[in-house]
Amino acid sequence: MTALAGIRALFPALEQEANGKPLVYLDSAATAQRAESVIAAEADFYRRDNANVHRGLYELSRRATERYEAARATVARFIGAATDEVVWVRGTTEAINLVASTWGVANVGAGDEIIVPVMEHHSNLVPWQLLAARTGARLRWLDMDEQGRIRLDHLDTLLNGRTRLVAVAHVSNALGTIHPIAEIAERAHRAGALVCVDGAQGAPHLPVDVKALGADFYTLSGHKMGAPMGIGVLWGRAQLLEAMPPWHGGGDMIDMVTLEGSTWAKPPHRFEAGTPNAGAAIGMAAAVELLESIGFDAIRAHEAALVRHGLERLGAVEGLRLFGPTAPGERGAVFSFELAGVHPHDIATILDAEGIAVRAGHHCCQPLMKRLGVPATARASCWIYTTTEEIDRLAEGLELCRTIFA
Ligand code: PMP
Repeated sequence: MTALAGIRALFPALEQEANGKPLVYLDSAATAQRAESVIAAEADFYRRDNANVHRGLYELSRRATERYEAARATVARFIGAATDEVVWVRGTTEAINLVASTWGVANVGAGDEIIVPVMEHHSNLVPWQLLAARTGARLRWLDMDEQGRIRLDHLDTLLNGRTRLVAVAHVSNALGTIHPIAEIAERAHRAGALVCVDGAQGAPHLPVDVKALGADFYTLSGHKMGAPMGIGVLWGRAQLLEAMPPWHGGGDMIDMVTLEGSTWAKPPHRFEAGTPNAGAAIGMAAAVELLESIGFDAIRAHEAALVRHGLERLGAVEGLRLFGPTAPGERGAVFSFELAGVHPHDIATILDAEGIAVRAGHHCCQPLMKRLGVPATARASCWIYTTTEEIDRLAEGLELCRTIFA
């Protein structure tokens, strides 16, 4: 398939063999591959501009700071946010813990309620359990239908005057479901609750305009959108960030420190104690620029074609049960499935011998596995460089699994 012709060649890691066969990388939901431009941008920072940021009064430190802050502005533009609303973090997990530990501790009390869908990643589930244990708040589990779509009718019954927050993924990592964030936010706001979106699987695949989504917090991980590991973003509405207490204390997050006490820097720096991962932030700006140069119309069209092809090819494998929505428009290019008579770990092992990398397990969604009534699933996940030929190789690999276990 040529929809995004030329893109594959930008990703050096894709040009290799695995177990003597051309690598078919179908684990981009776990982490994407990086383009040469991203690797080069990060390396270039260390080669030419390396100094600590926000500290030195000398030329090199000024340059490092400028590049680091310019990267923040690039990411802000990418998600339709103001630059000061973009907090650098290590990734989605850290962003959600930050919200729970600052906004949560300041605003959630005993008897208050937090609504979380049952299919959430542990990163958008355990931090809220910790907050509930700390504050006496109660978690309410939002159910899904048989196709892995959030039940909005159930959301309506859960929302009430005690609801403080709805914490929901933009796209499910385990099912591929694209959740209707704007509708969820509208309902939550009507009930007086805020919405925190786990955008780990949203930002790499969908255009994100935080204002249009209507969310209050949006979190993302750079490494899932082609940026280096160890960098991500928490976006929060300016008034919310302004009112939030700090999380970690240390250098860079203060205004004034005396032995008696301290005052805090303004957001975003209030939440960025210590030396940041400046090189990764600069790599992230390069990743964003690559996505912007391709454009989300082309990315969406490419992934929609992969979804249609995958539904057709995988649907034709006897004994394969695909989880998640059946309508292509409701799902991303993630295929989570079970194959009758073959354990997901055996599927992954047989596919590996064919050079095909998929993930098998609970995908950090143990409550979802319980809800589906399966111990684990196999998952193939795609991105901008995935081709329909790779999905064909996956389907052929699955036929091989069936033959072996017949
Ligand atoms: N949420 C979702 C939906 C994810 O897919 C992931 C990564 N698998 C995370 C959160 C956690 O992201 P990170 O490990 O980058 O913090």
